[in-house]
Amino acid sequence: MSRIWVLGAGQLGQMLKHAGMPLNLDVQPVDIESEETLPLLAHEQVTAEREQWPDTAATRQLASHGAFVNLQTFPRLADRFTQKSLIDELGLATAPWQLVESDTTAESLHERLGERVLLKQRTGGYDGRGQHWLREPGRDAVPEGWHQVCIAEQAIDFDEEMSVVGMRSADGQCFFYPLTLNLHVDGILLGSVAPLPRLAHLQEKAEQMLGKLMNNLDYVGVMAMECFRLGDTLLVNELAPRVHNSGHWTQAGANISQFEAHLRAVAKLPLVQPTVKNTSVMVNLVGVDYQDAWLTVPGAELYWYGKEVRVGRKVGHINFCLDNHADTKAALDLLQTMLPATYVEVLNWLRSQLD
Ligand code: ATP
Ligand code: MG
Ligand code: MG
Repeated sequence: MSRIWVLGAGQLGQMLKHAGMPLNLDVQPVDIESEETLPLLAHEQVTAEREQWPDTAATRQLASHGAFVNLQTFPRLADRFTQKSLIDELGLATAPWQLVESDTTAESLHERLGERVLLKQRTGGYDGRGQHWLREPGRDAVPEGWHQVCIAEQAIDFDEEMSVVGMRSADGQCFFYPLTLNLHVDGILLGSVAPLPRLAHLQEKAEQMLGKLMNNLDYVGVMAMECFRLGDTLLVNELAPRVHNSGHWTQAGANISQFEAHLRAVAKLPLVQPTVKNTSVMVNLVGVDYQDAWLTVPGAELYWYGKEVRVGRKVGHINFCLDNHADTKAALDLLQTMLPATYVEVLNWLRSQLD
């Protein structure tokens, strides 16, 4: 049985472990705060469920291991400045942006980027945290402490948000899942649906973009590219060098989930084009208490992460991949009765994509 170590033991690490079992891969997520000496063997691969990590006993051990796949890519993509620079270097469309330096004023940002400017911390942000809007030219300012640690982006009036999840083997073969349509509310992903025939004409473009990035980085494993769609143009929003929340539907909707795909690539097992089943829907469970009742919803495939429930925290997700859209909508109707009223927006949105 080969062993693969995962830096990080959150839900992504746990789902990698789960996906490794049928392949006889012993996947070992490592808590970054662990003080244990890990029995790392030279031939064992190391991967990560997060793009950034503090310097701890555990992360030092893993990062100094010779077989840490994509080690150089993590710091490059974990810093929005170097990530956006890479996107620019490769000539890929992205929201106009600039670095916020020690003397950068809100006024100069508005002048260059427009009326609405989004400040994003260079490192550490997720689920919309670490962001600050400048929306009132003449009256707003770069907040205290944000100089030199953030980038500024032009606000994009996108039609919708989507992502593509791809995979690349050590010998350079790339495969992609179909584009996923995503709904983010206040910066946090609430729901996804894929595939959608109306987005199929954008697939090739998205694959070219992500393929170019993965090839340039000589990347191995699964990578996600979040995009804004403006008409038929895709702007790269951000990249994740790991399995990604918007790819969770593949657990229900494809013969090879993104977790298995990542492990196959890291373990140098064959990669093939995943086969996609019917339309899948994923509902993120954010800040809600666990309920057994969810298990009674026809077709529901629940992943509960076992984390402490806090407002705005992702604590689980439910996938559906049913035979027809009518059944999926009926399942979402029933699920709605088991979730807070704040879920009406995402459930309505999901149902509207299935019309
Ligand atoms: P994630 O949890 O996906 O890692 P994040 O905190 O890293 O999120 P982004 O993906 O950069 O942050 O932004 C979060 C959300 O904020 C986006 O999904 C989008 O809805 C909105 N957003 C980000 N950048 C822009 C922009 N330039 N213009 C308009 N909206 C934006
Ligand atoms: Mg992010
Ligand atoms: Mg994002």
